[in-house]
Amino acid sequence: MMNSVTLQVRKEYICDVLVCGGGPAGIAASIYAARNGMRVILTESQPSLGGMATSGLVGPFMTVYDRDGNERIVGGIFDEIVERLEKYKAVISPDEVENSSVYTSFIEKYHRHVTPFDSFYLSIVLDEMVREAGVELLCYTQFADCVNENGKIKHVILNALEGLICVTPKIVIDCTGIAAVAEKAGVPTYKGDEENGVPQPGTLMFEVGGVDDEGYEKFAARPERPVKAYRTTVKGRYKVNHYHVYNTDAADSKSMTDAHSRARYQVLDAFAVLHDKTPGFENAELLQVAPVLGVRESRHIEGEYKITVKDVSEGTKFDDRIAVYGFGMDVHNRSEKEFGNFKIEIAEKYYIPYRSLVPKNCDNLLVAGKTLSCESQAVGGMRCMPAAMSMGQAAGIASAMAVSEDLRVRDINVASLQEKLKATGAIID
Ligand SMILES: Cc1cc2nc3c(=O)[nH]c(=O)nc-3n(C[C@H](O)[C@H](O)[C@H](O)COP(=O)(O)OP(=O)(O)OC[C@H]3O[C@@H](n4cnc5c(N)ncnc54)[C@H](O)[C@@H]3O)c2cc1C
Repeated sequence: MMNSVTLQVRKEYICDVLVCGGGPAGIAASIYAARNGMRVILTESQPSLGGMATSGLVGPFMTVYDRDGNERIVGGIFDEIVERLEKYKAVISPDEVENSSVYTSFIEKYHRHVTPFDSFYLSIVLDEMVREAGVELLCYTQFADCVNENGKIKHVILNALEGLICVTPKIVIDCTGIAAVAEKAGVPTYKGDEENGVPQPGTLMFEVGGVDDEGYEKFAARPERPVKAYRTTVKGRYKVNHYHVYNTDAADSKSMTDAHSRARYQVLDAFAVLHDKTPGFENAELLQVAPVLGVRESRHIEGEYKITVKDVSEGTKFDDRIAVYGFGMDVHNRSEKEFGNFKIEIAEKYYIPYRSLVPKNCDNLLVAGKTLSCESQAVGGMRCMPAAMSMGQAAGIASAMAVSEDLRVRDINVASLQEKLKATGAIID
């Protein structure tokens, strides 16, 4: 195999903070790094910001309350996004959404106060917010590789439409959802489940319209409703999250291509079941299918601390906590033979420590979002979008602290980070 080739770089950039991946974690990280005075570049391989929330058509935002839906435990950038979406009438406040309703696909456990939103308006809102913060945005641009020196990332190579770009950043925040940067920076990573490497399955999401909400409500309140469909902000319009593609490697093009091929037929099957067998869906139309296959789990990094199932079950209150969350360990079956999602009970709320965003072996890299340092089962809840936003917000502020004080990311003053988070509306208790 060829190890090195000489390639031509078309453009060069210098910045303080480079954020790779513009999903829920990446938009929060880039906005908060920029608001703290950094020159920030955000690179996203898809045309739109939002990650799974837009390109994957995933929704609703999972709960921002504790396990039983009593106490609000996520604020900060999540609230800002909801406020912006309200201007477009493209969101329903989580405070108004009850469990066991059309908005939760009649699921009761852990689903009180989810937030239905419109994916297209979200892509507009995120684009506005990122630009207003002064972030230099490069969509259609994919992280490809990096040059490492003395335990640091020195240069990053991006694959842009015009050719290869070289960025020289002081800090990189990996929000790719596949730990693409961390892996190339020499951080130890592993894929899927610790024991056998099998990830949670993927699902190709789609939206249907023209549903008779009342007809569906009467029928689906019974537990045997055949396909999981979540009402969006628009009457009669639903996001459908149903069949699974197993053993898909989100960090492997061939695996994703083959899985996506299979998933297209699953969409046809799921739509047929809805249309032909589900009261309320008789006149439903297939409105859109997500351009990107949703994959729930890929790589996990080895960080300064690995969050365990025990931590989530017992609610370990870390001194260096930067976020709180309360959604259950939602681990979808990893093969056709398994069943059940919420196998292990969680504490009323659980905490995410800063050390889990700090990877081993690299001094100028932070990792935010679903690939943080956490056991595979334990990340089942905190992989959700509101938690990813909270992690991104913390990583963005932390990156600015490291640059301003010329520190390694692991050496910043975490008490000061916590104060800054609270001052920006984030909840950490
Ligand atoms: C089918 C499915 C259903 C789900 N249901 C829900 C739900 O109902 N509610 C909820 O809150 N959560 C849900 N989740 C979980 C949630 O969507 C994700 O875990 C969450 O989006 C994670 O955010 P993130 O920012 O870490 O990653 P992502 O949302 O995956 O964002 C990563 C971004 O990085 C970009 N990227 C990847 N590689 C590169 C690269 N090399 N260079 C540049 N950019 C790159 C991607 O294009 C993407 O935009 C679901 C997930 C799936 C797959």
